[in-house]
Amino acid sequence: MTSKGRINVVHLYPREMSIYGDLGNTRCLASRLRWHGYEAEVRQHHPGHPFPEDAHLVVGGGGQDSGQARVEDDLARNADLLRALAEDDTPMLMVCGTYQLFGRSFTTVQGTVLPGLGILDVTTRGNPKRMIGPVVLETDYGEVVGYENHSGSTILGEGQRPLGRVRHGSGNNGNDRTEGAVTRQVHGTYLHGPVLPANPALADALIAAAVRRALGRDFEPAQVDDTIADTARTRQVKRLVG
Ligand code: GLN
Repeated sequence: MTSKGRINVVHLYPREMSIYGDLGNTRCLASRLRWHGYEAEVRQHHPGHPFPEDAHLVVGGGGQDSGQARVEDDLARNADLLRALAEDDTPMLMVCGTYQLFGRSFTTVQGTVLPGLGILDVTTRGNPKRMIGPVVLETDYGEVVGYENHSGSTILGEGQRPLGRVRHGSGNNGNDRTEGAVTRQVHGTYLHGPVLPANPALADALIAAAVRRALGRDFEPAQVDDTIADTARTRQVKRLVG
């Protein structure tokens, strides 16, 4: 079968920032792109290396505070480029530690301030008490399930759109029932799991935006059998919120 076109997926900091299975998001995007008839090229970006050219979809995972500190300089070096990509409607999925660093700042529980890119209008502070456990959200992509484990408590700036409303779990801060943040096509979330294999609608929304950005045309999905993911998600929702 001829390819419908090539999509370049850039995985940020796979060594420093990839915990609780977040690598599964990159694998999910690459697999789904292929199942939908597109060619997927995954390019890893490591600190100190030139940023991959022609990024159509950018993914980053969670990490310890120490991992975040190790990627700080590189993020600062590539800040203008990442901001320009975001302005240009490049889809991105930033999970947990990278979500925090795509915000305005992350202050660790020890009081160290890690400045962020400010692409998302969110501010995060570490707390002695961690927020851990399964999560169910109501989002524009339907019910989204995942798993959170973070000490950072995130507050949305005024007018910042969240990814979803928390039906079970803590989300951004355990208080206001918001989870994650979305600006243009940049999606920040605390959800691990990994989140995309369990939530194909979210994965395909990122893919659709990447196709528009890379090829200048609408996403032409193929028929993909998501029975296993859909059954698992539905059971999880039923178990946690009834
Ligand atoms: N260090 C951050 C926190 O605990 C990020 C954790 C994570 O990425 N899972 O808030």
